[in-house]
Amino acid sequence: MVQFTTLNEISNETIMQLLKRAERGIDMLSMSGSKRFTVANLFYEPSTRTKSSFEMAQKELNIHSLHFDVTSSSVQKGESLYDTVKTLEAIGCDALVIRHPLKAFYKELQDVNIPIINGGDGAGDHPTQSLLDLLTIYQEFKTFKDIHVVISGDIRHSRVARTNAAILRRLGANVSFSGPDEWMDYDITYSNVVPVDQAVKAADVMMLLRIQTERHGQNGFIDQENYHHLYGLTIEREQQMKDHSIIMHPAPVNRNVEIASELVECSRSRIFKQMTNGVKVRKAVLEHVLKTKGEVKYENIV
Ligand code: ASP
Repeated sequence: MVQFTTLNEISNETIMQLLKRAERGIDMLSMSGSKRFTVANLFYEPSTRTKSSFEMAQKELNIHSLHFDVTSSSVQKGESLYDTVKTLEAIGCDALVIRHPLKAFYKELQDVNIPIINGGDGAGDHPTQSLLDLLTIYQEFKTFKDIHVVISGDIRHSRVARTNAAILRRLGANVSFSGPDEWMDYDITYSNVVPVDQAVKAADVMMLLRIQTERHGQNGFIDQENYHHLYGLTIEREQQMKDHSIIMHPAPVNRNVEIASELVECSRSRIFKQMTNGVKVRKAVLEHVLKTKGEVKYENIV
């Protein structure tokens, strides 16, 4: 049973294969005997891009999407995640996409007999976001080796920062960080923290992060205007970037906080390209986990 819960357990070779597969594109996917796969999408936290791009990927692969509504399900009667997953396995789902606020929620699902794709676990991991970020960087530079990626903003509370920092380092990129001291996390950054005005000049990729207010608790107040001025990608800072450098952000974007509104769609911005790539990599991940369910048949879309 292939699980896709954290990139820490996936080799560099498999990651590169997934990126190549995503880039090449995948046709419709079905099990031998033309049985269509069914995948349920369980989102216990809000989502726009991850949820809709998984649904789009499923549609393009001719997979049935089983919509699971947390607010009207037995989750409201206190059903555990494990029992919900066992139920969806019993009624015949072939794989599950799960987003959950609990860090490493998948550890309590080790004994289930259905592939789980992690759609984001609290401040833990976000493996498919990382894949789409990797694809975006690879399309640009054709390598990860020695590419200087600056991850900027709310590092401590961001699953995107955690997953990307680890995988980019493993693939040979040079990763540094900028942002307010109280949002740095030595387990992610080590000693590679630089002031934002220095970072923008050095970066090949400026990867901005959303301020994760939902994870700040009571001490989370930030003055957004001040943040933009002190740490954000202002128009003046963008002008300091190298000619070939690009801007990324996993979105949702707080315009004029992490990034000046005018820069969201500027020529360096790959923010919407990242979303397009989200569908491609999620198709590759669905294929990767469903392949283990039996012989897979490909059909050309006519
Ligand atoms: N969409 C990304 C996530 O789910 C980034 C964000 O929410 O800030 O982690």
